[in-house]
Amino acid sequence: MTISDRVQAVRERLAAAGERCGRSPADVVLIAATKTRSPEEVSAVLESGVTELGENYVQELVTKRAAIDRLGQFSVSWHVIGHLQRNKVKYVVPGMALIHSVDNLPLAQEIEKRAAQADLRQPVLLEVNIAGEDSKTGIEPAQVAELAEAVMALGHVDLQGLMCMPPYSDSPEDSRPHFRALAALAERLVRGGLPREAMRHLSMGMSGDYEVAVEEGATLVRLGTVLFGPRT
Ligand SMILES: *Cc1c(COP(=O)(O)O)cnc(C)c1O
Repeated sequence: MTISDRVQAVRERLAAAGERCGRSPADVVLIAATKTRSPEEVSAVLESGVTELGENYVQELVTKRAAIDRLGQFSVSWHVIGHLQRNKVKYVVPGMALIHSVDNLPLAQEIEKRAAQADLRQPVLLEVNIAGEDSKTGIEPAQVAELAEAVMALGHVDLQGLMCMPPYSDSPEDSRPHFRALAALAERLVRGGLPREAMRHLSMGMSGDYEVAVEEGATLVRLGTVLFGPRT
């Protein structure tokens, strides 16, 4: 299967998952997760009509973005989807459509500083350690309300929702309670007074569980393996 075939197949599955729960294909944005992929693979995915790219590693993002820009062929929106260190913020602000992985206030404050210098509002999501795993990055669910409130007070940071990565499992259904918990958390924050726009996105769902994520309300899915094939 070519990358183009894979993108097509994923789009069909996304549309079908959306249809099962009354959502239109336009409600769910496909982000290609590009970690470890070559510029040729990334170009192939862009040629197939994907416009959003997500990177985990800042250095890789900077190199890849320069390579794609040099082609002068694609208009790409970039997303930081991996853990972001404070000292790397300067490489990605300005320049990102969305940073998915804000999980502490000092990081948000650094984004604020760089965004203010660039005279923009940087869209961000809060990454939630939804299953409370020791090994995971992300803020604990019980602390999200406080961080959300602090981020809302930053004039150059634009809070747009939540992101999570459930524990790895071979069974997509194992992710469902975690996705449902993230959606419920967003709903609780809105009921608690947070503007709905600040919770308009749920970034959840990877290759193994993206259809379940769409059924549970994902607005952004981050896909690597199903688009590019297995990582080597
Ligand atoms: C690698 C990665 C993905 C995509 O993973 P696949 O299982 O290959 O689809 C999504 N989100 C994050 C944060 C990742 O690191």
